[in-house]
Amino acid sequence: MARQCTVCTHPNQGKIDEALVSGTAIRDIAGQHGLAKSAVDRHSTHIGTALVQAAQRKAELETLAAATDGTAGSAAVRELLALQASDWAFMVSRGLAVPYARERFDGHRAALARALADGPDASEEGLRNLAAHADPSLLLAP
Ligand SMILES: [Zn+2]
Repeated sequence: MARQCTVCTHPNQGKIDEALVSGTAIRDIAGQHGLAKSAVDRHSTHIGTALVQAAQRKAELETLAAATDGTAGSAAVRELLALQASDWAFMVSRGLAVPYARERFDGHRAALARALADGPDASEEGLRNLAAHADPSLLLAP
């Protein structure tokens, strides 16, 4: 019989999933809830697709809100596209290169947060040629 996931049966599972979606480090989550880091790691993998999709949706709503307020620049839109266009959700769900996929995903999520914090003139330096003509008005078009 397969061993049950100690996080799926944990009384704070909802809070743990929320922390995973918002990008809290796995070792911090484990420490806060008295769990082994390996248990939280395993849990994040077997619910990986849902977590990645929830994080992508959250990022989209944050960027849309900033575009509506006029505080999102091209860098934020381009980082959002990088976050959404990837097949990391698929890789995580299939257990393929999970640490690499998570690292890339977390990197783009952090870059999006920086771009949103820096406002309309945020640096686009790290984006190379990705969607070079992306513009916040694209998000607001009907
Ligand atoms: Zn689990």
